[in-house]
Amino acid sequence: MPAKNLREKQKERREKRGKQLNLTTMIFLALISGMVIGSLLHSFVPASYIKDTIAINGIFYIVGQGFIRLMQMLVVPLVLCSIVCGSAAIGDTKTLGKVGVKILGFYLVTTAMAISVAMAVGTIVKPGLGLNLGEVTSVETAAPTEKTSMVDTLLNIIPTNPIQALAKGEMLQIILFAMILGIILAKLGEKTEIVFNFFSGFNDIMMEMTGIVMKVAPVGVFCLVAKTFSELGFSAFGSMAKYMLCVVGALAIHCFGIYSGLFAIFTKCNPFQFIRKYLPVMGFAFSTATSNATIPMAIETLEEKMGVSRKISSFTIPLGATINMDGTAIMQGVAVCFAAQAYGIALGPVEYLTVIATATLASVGTAGVPGVGLITLSMVFHSVGLPVEAIGIIMGIDRILDMSRTAVNITGDAMCTAIVASQENEFDKKVFQES
Ligand code: ASP
Repeated sequence: MPAKNLREKQKERREKRGKQLNLTTMIFLALISGMVIGSLLHSFVPASYIKDTIAINGIFYIVGQGFIRLMQMLVVPLVLCSIVCGSAAIGDTKTLGKVGVKILGFYLVTTAMAISVAMAVGTIVKPGLGLNLGEVTSVETAAPTEKTSMVDTLLNIIPTNPIQALAKGEMLQIILFAMILGIILAKLGEKTEIVFNFFSGFNDIMMEMTGIVMKVAPVGVFCLVAKTFSELGFSAFGSMAKYMLCVVGALAIHCFGIYSGLFAIFTKCNPFQFIRKYLPVMGFAFSTATSNATIPMAIETLEEKMGVSRKISSFTIPLGATINMDGTAIMQGVAVCFAAQAYGIALGPVEYLTVIATATLASVGTAGVPGVGLITLSMVFHSVGLPVEAIGIIMGIDRILDMSRTAVNITGDAMCTAIVASQENEFDKKVFQES
């Protein structure tokens, strides 16, 4: 029952796809013009009431934040309904377990690869060399980070109150509860058809709402990017250019090299076509620096433009946005090299391995919202005895890197999803190949 419904709905939505191709171009144009206008405002327009109060902190701020809030409004109900329907459609726990194990494997292995790439780039380019940040502040004086034990972190996936989990937006708790609900709906079949139909109908409503909100995406993206660049300009690039280039370079190697390679090997499809179709979602992630808010757009784009079934993506995308942060891990790998070089601390093979392990865990623990990667970075610094004060130095330019790494974070989730979907025969390559 559920599978048939989903297929029909999938087809209907695909018919609307033509209209959305324009949206891709518009989001991209909004991104570029936001960068240009923001930088021009920063460099050439003197401070004034009109520039600062009306444009930057008025229109740009209100429209940009309004747009992020609209996207965030969709996340919890969409994730709940879509996972309930997705796991009800998969039905048996065996397949669901297989998909779960595979996606976790891909997420963890690619994150470890990402850090290795980052550390290789950081070691070869040496962005921190010559900075001589002087005497090393002892690690003992550094601010301690709050730690939750591994056991508590795992236990915390089980919600003691699912309603509270929904209200607080606790993503892993919502995922677990929704999966159990979906599996039981599939098991009870006709007996609980009304409940299934409720979730399925609600799911359609949320997808429709996503489509409506996405129509204003170009305006939202423009305002968000224009505001950021009108505050930062391109001046931020100057002093820390080498560090930034290392992070951006490693992000590019990971996205266009490793991820694209894995995608091509496992799906036999063109990864650049994937990236082209996924650009609006990447642009959205870039402008908001928030993986979580991209969940609705990611699921919709994967289904309608790429032919990746929601049965898989409804489960793997929210999970990835919560635990799979390859872009963040890359920033952390480069930051470790940068700080070690700046403070003259030698890192040996043991330290390298420690960083790979802790940054993989940090990536799992980084929430998909702006700036959290810098907070979990202190855990990585602690693990190899680097002074956390170094984080203060990179903080000033982190916003632009946060935007870039978020785009890679969500692209990783999508590519792993497509790979797993292809292995489960849930990737319609005909849809993918259509332009
Ligand atoms: N902003 C990132 C994200 O939402 C997380 C981070 O690295 O701070 O994916």
